[in-house]
Amino acid sequence: RAKRRSRGAYEIFDASMHTHALRQLQLESDLQRAVERQELSVYYQPIMALDDRHIQGFETLLRWHHPEQGMIAPGEFIPIAEETGLIIDLDLWVVEEACRQLKIWNQIFPMLPALTVSVNLSGQQFSYPELISRIDQVLDGSGISGSQLKLEITEGVLIENTEVAATILRQFQDRNIQVCLDDFGTGYSSLSYLHRFPIDSIKIDQSFITLLETDLEKSEIVKAIVNLALNLGINVVAEGLETPKQLAYLRSIKCQSGQGYLFSPPLDLAAASEFLYQNNSVHSV
Ligand code: C2E
Ligand code: MG
Ligand code: MG
Ligand code: MG
Repeated sequence: RAKRRSRGAYEIFDASMHTHALRQLQLESDLQRAVERQELSVYYQPIMALDDRHIQGFETLLRWHHPEQGMIAPGEFIPIAEETGLIIDLDLWVVEEACRQLKIWNQIFPMLPALTVSVNLSGQQFSYPELISRIDQVLDGSGISGSQLKLEITEGVLIENTEVAATILRQFQDRNIQVCLDDFGTGYSSLSYLHRFPIDSIKIDQSFITLLETDLEKSEIVKAIVNLALNLGINVVAEGLETPKQLAYLRSIKCQSGQGYLFSPPLDLAAASEFLYQNNSVHSV
């Protein structure tokens, strides 16, 4: 593609590609050491019930504090982790951290026995033969019951590995681990997946929630998705919920849960614990 451009443009393009490639290479080797150097941390974003605003759980989101480059967003390093295969251990490290933390929260907040943590699972996990046994190890080691763990996957996984995915999802189901379809609406969005696979919840993608302000057609789509999910007994989470207007609409169509800056950004561990204290004291009055 580059060669078809004029010579000057080609050179500029080439130089910036070179810089980009160098940064990629550097990040790749840095990422290998990031875990042991404790540069990665798990952030927790509250997931709230839309009717009474009590906390239902947290989604874990990885953060990388690079010693020289500062904070690097998952949008940049998750693809690198996927290319290098590091994602397998990274995701499982997050599951372990989340379960360890949940165990502590269970002890501090016995009044919140149904609190969940939702961990993002890369599609690559579905070709990793030890996935189930490693999750079992984490559950056994932490003493967390499967019902407090949710795994977020994307539709692509179900389409590309239908057979394997069905087997793995059944194994999650046997352990009462909940499955959430993330970024719903952005992919193939075949609604048939909702009853063909054991799926407990869907997260309607942020792009739909953002458009609720202005786009009536999109509002109708969201309403139809929520209705269908309700009929199938599937919980719906609105992702990227930012404004009271969006909240009002989502409540009016009986969407149960939401996550977004309106409630809270992703929080570090201390702030997440503080959020639990605050939210819980409001609700125990
Ligand atoms: P995701 O799972 O769809 O996560 C939701 C993203 O939306 C997060 O971005 C979150 O910070 C952001 N967000 C939450 N509320 C709002 C809001 O109100 N407005 C806006 N504009 N954004 C909001 P983040 O943390 O940058 O993560 C991006 C993606 O990286 C995630 O998308 C997920 O696909 C991936 N990711 C993050 N952590 C992990 C992980 O541990 N493992 C894997 N495999 N992927 C991860
Ligand atoms: Mg997610
Ligand atoms: Mg999402
Ligand atoms: Mg998303």
